[in-house]
Amino acid sequence: MARLKTDLTTARTFAAALESSVKDGFKLHNPVVATWLDEEAIKEADQRTEKARNYINHLHRVLWRVDEQHHVPEDAPEDVCRCGVAADECPTFRALDQVREKLYKWEREELERLKKGWQHNLPKEHPEVPKYDHSDWRRPA
Ligand SMILES: [Zn+2]
Repeated sequence: MARLKTDLTTARTFAAALESSVKDGFKLHNPVVATWLDEEAIKEADQRTEKARNYINHLHRVLWRVDEQHHVPEDAPEDVCRCGVAADECPTFRALDQVREKLYKWEREELERLKKGWQHNLPKEHPEVPKYDHSDWRRPA
């Protein structure tokens, strides 16, 4: 199995080098092809960036939903997690500590977008969404 993986990696590396070499050859002899290949490379990079951005937003929505069930509400008498357990004894609350700051930063930025009437990535059940978002467009879950 390990050998098969090594062979596959070697074949992929060879194929990528071959593809790159062919593209470079075309670019040298034809400036139109060179421009087209560069534009295609930019388009592909943009598509990869967009996919990564969508995935990061999806993960933030998942984390936001988990945090909704495991945070200390402002009106809580002490450090009691919303799930009813002391915050320092709730493993989910503690796990979220590592990402909470970035999660809330993302939420603040998305709230700004929402309030400006721009497309945003907040979950549809976010309490602020019905106050500002009156569009019909469907947001990914
Ligand atoms: Zn909890």
